[in-house]
Amino acid sequence: MSELRELYQSVILDHNKSPRNQGTPAGANREASGDNPLCGDQITLRVKLVDGVVEAIGFEGHGCAISTASASLMTEAVKGRRIEEVEKLFEEFHRLVTSDPRSEPEIGALGKLAVFAGVREFPMRVKCATLGWHTLRAALHGDSTTVTTE
Ligand code: ZN
Repeated sequence: MSELRELYQSVILDHNKSPRNQGTPAGANREASGDNPLCGDQITLRVKLVDGVVEAIGFEGHGCAISTASASLMTEAVKGRRIEEVEKLFEEFHRLVTSDPRSEPEIGALGKLAVFAGVREFPMRVKCATLGWHTLRAALHGDSTTVTTE
C-alpha cells in the first residue's frame, strides 16, 4: 500500500506544480467560482458546453495542493464527457473521498482520480478535494453565483 501511496502523492504534487487546463478556453460559455474559506481555496472555472458535452474547460485560482491538483485532474477527467457522465463521476469521487478510510477504496470508473483516496483520512481536506467539482456543477447548471463549501 505504501508504494501506491507514494505514487498517489507524486501525481498530486505534479498536478499542483503544473496544473493542467489553466486559463480560459476559447468559446467558453459557462463560468462559476468556488470558495473554500476554511482553507482559503479559490477557483474560477470556465467551460465550453456544446449540446450537453464539456468540449473545453479551464480554471484559475489559488489554494492548497489538494484543491489545485483536484481541479487539475478533474478538468482532464471531464473533458469530452456529457453532463450526466460528469454527475456520475462526481458521485463516485465524492463517495471515494468520504468513505471509511479502513475500507477498501472503491475506484470504479475514477481512473486517475483515485489518487485522492488518501483524503479519506483527512476529513478537513474533503472540501479542498471537492471544491472544483462543486464549482463545475454550478457552471454546468448555469448557476453563475459563487459556490462556497460553507
Ligand atoms: Zn485546501
